[in-house]
Amino acid sequence: MQLNTFKWHTAMKLKLLVTLLTAGLAAGCQATAPKQVDYSNVKLATGNIVKEGEVYIPAWVRNEAQVNSVLKSNHYCADNIVLRFQSMTEQNIADSCKLLLETQARFHKLFNTEGKPLLHDNNDVLRANIYAGRDDYVKYVTDHFDVPSNNGGMYLEGLPHLEDNSAEYVAYLRNGQVWNLNHEFVHYLDGRFNTYGDYCAPPHDNHYGPEYCPEPAAEPPYLIWWGEGLGEYVAHMENNPAAIKLAKEKTYQLSELFYNNSANWDTNRIYRWGYLAVRYMMERQRDKVEDMLFHVRRGDYPRYQKVIKIWGTSMDADFHAWLDTL
Ligand SMILES: [Zn+2]
Repeated sequence: MQLNTFKWHTAMKLKLLVTLLTAGLAAGCQATAPKQVDYSNVKLATGNIVKEGEVYIPAWVRNEAQVNSVLKSNHYCADNIVLRFQSMTEQNIADSCKLLLETQARFHKLFNTEGKPLLHDNNDVLRANIYAGRDDYVKYVTDHFDVPSNNGGMYLEGLPHLEDNSAEYVAYLRNGQVWNLNHEFVHYLDGRFNTYGDYCAPPHDNHYGPEYCPEPAAEPPYLIWWGEGLGEYVAHMENNPAAIKLAKEKTYQLSELFYNNSANWDTNRIYRWGYLAVRYMMERQRDKVEDMLFHVRRGDYPRYQKVIKIWGTSMDADFHAWLDTL
């Protein structure tokens, strides 16, 4: 897909040119290839927090030459989904594209969001950056994308209100598949169609890179239960045996799961119980989900938090009764 490649590079070059003009460095400077850009005289913003006189240039744009020297190949699954990878078989590529396109269709069917991105969201293209394995991911991902490597992949939303923003996710191959491909992709869809603003906009208590969201953290409740739970729900739908096995234990009340955060983070609570919470809300309390999303889609997070507080413990008993039906 030559045209798309051309558009991508043109957009990137434009971004660099705008950046240089903004920084007052344009005079006599030839903005050609990214590797020739010198950022040493630009006052860079820290993560997503852009203060007066600072310029937002995410790590993956600053490091584009290094990233491209490792992730050498590109493949377009569709106009809006690009794979940039180190080493993938034809089968990997075909399987990944099929999975992403199916997930995208399922998401739009669930939420009726096809062609209806949020206001001020320019993340029309998503690029998946896929390392050949866990070792390469750990070796490169922090240098390339300024993210921790102690994870199974991450979605990097950037600043979606910028017209030349690029939405990226980082992942790696494990057991012949792109690990967590679906989960991370749902974060992209949720960010573009459900959750207004950049990663720092909804209430949470994560201050890691590449966003480095401002301190202090917002007061709870956060939106973590929804984001992580939805990632698992849309990725697996009814097919999540690990979560369904846990359901019998009734470890948490629904009202507790709404308060998931970084401090109480564990795999079961965040992903499996998050999945159960979101699945319950989607299947049994859809009207309430729509009430909540009305505020979340407008970025009215104080009202979102008020909604969660009004719900309180009112659904706890029904949630536990529903767990018995799984
Ligand atoms: Zn996630």
